[in-house]
Amino acid sequence: MRMLQSGRSYYIYYLKIRGMEGVRGRIDYPLLKKSMHVELSEEDENEMSKILDDIKKIISQSVPSGLIKQKICKSCAYLDLCYI
Ligand code: SF4
Repeated sequence: MRMLQSGRSYYIYYLKIRGMEGVRGRIDYPLLKKSMHVELSEEDENEMSKILDDIKKIISQSVPSGLIKQKICKSCAYLDLCYI
């Protein structure tokens, strides 16, 4: 569940590291007739920073890591790319 919160607040994090402080957001889900307020917590910031560091490590690898088959892959939009 924490990953979902981080995903929602990524753009606020993005703006913060570019100098915009105090940004908050609201996500509207018209089909669900719901909306949610999004703020960036210190925990979100730390998690985001760690995730971005992990992405940089993966990108810098000369050889991609091995295939990791997970249940979630079956419904993932990147399935074709990962399983070629
Ligand atoms: S990107 Fe999608 S298909 Fe590829 S490993 Fe991750 S979940 Fe599975």
